[in-house]
Amino acid sequence: MTIKPYPLQFKAVMKERIWGGKALERFGLELPDGAIGEGWMISDHPNGITTVANGPLAGQGLDQIREAYGKEWFGRSGFSEKNSRFPLLIKLLDCNDDLSIQVHPNDHYEQLPAGELGKTEMWYVLDAKPGARIIYGLKESIDRAALEQAIANGSITDVMNIVPVEAGDAFYIPAGTVHALCSGVVVAEIQQNSDTTYRLYDYNRPGLDGQLRELHIEDSLNVIAYNGAGAARMKTAAAQPNNWLTIAASPYFSVDKGVVEAAWTLSTHASSCVILIVAEGSGLLRWPDGVIAANAGDCFLLPATLGQYELDGHMTVLRSIIPDVK
Ligand code: ZN
Repeated sequence: MTIKPYPLQFKAVMKERIWGGKALERFGLELPDGAIGEGWMISDHPNGITTVANGPLAGQGLDQIREAYGKEWFGRSGFSEKNSRFPLLIKLLDCNDDLSIQVHPNDHYEQLPAGELGKTEMWYVLDAKPGARIIYGLKESIDRAALEQAIANGSITDVMNIVPVEAGDAFYIPAGTVHALCSGVVVAEIQQNSDTTYRLYDYNRPGLDGQLRELHIEDSLNVIAYNGAGAARMKTAAAQPNNWLTIAASPYFSVDKGVVEAAWTLSTHASSCVILIVAEGSGLLRWPDGVIAANAGDCFLLPATLGQYELDGHMTVLRSIIPDVK
């Protein structure tokens, strides 16, 4: 039986984290007990595969979708015969407390666990409490020796670039950039499909099991881009109704912000599937064979072969695609 392409919604995989909370409930998500830090909304990673929640493919994992339809539905740049996973991982994060100060390797780090990729990520800030901040790179002229010294002295936060953050800010965090989301922010995260994090500092606090969480100082020091990896941040209020504003561009994903104020006709292309994240508001997503409600926190995977679709209502949407391989 051939199934016509349609916008896929997934049942999120929730992750308890010491720094999590209950903020993801505002998106209508059902949270298990405990401090929930991450909702993996679209995932084809062995640490948490999301299953389709709507339509004829309901119940199937994204890994099964990839096997059966990946070549057509993920698009030229979204599907690879070699790398067997969907290339992106889409999350909502509730940072009720500070995340560890961390860094991710790029695809070429020799000590990467087998099958893992590097991790370039971007955040779109959905909500930020007054005074909320983010650790975003090292201060200028901090090299490996200076960072090692600061770690030894217990003064690591002194060498971090710490910036204020508010809703609507976008951060691009390429692999090799030291970073930490801090308490009081809720973000949508678009990242390479990887679960490899090296922790530099964890505030000397116990983990969920009461033990200090493992640090990875040597790996961290090895993968940090001391001269910068091209991290960027931007205010995104300039987004015009029914127009895309590019807020992140990388070899792995490109992300646009769009403010929907009236019916907006769009189309997928054979080169890539489209991922839509509703950041704010609500509306409808129509395609030739159906219509589906879209509310803040909803994430959709639109097959590359879907063709024309329409957004309608009053909502802010993030659109991600996988750029054509150069
Ligand atoms: Zn990270």
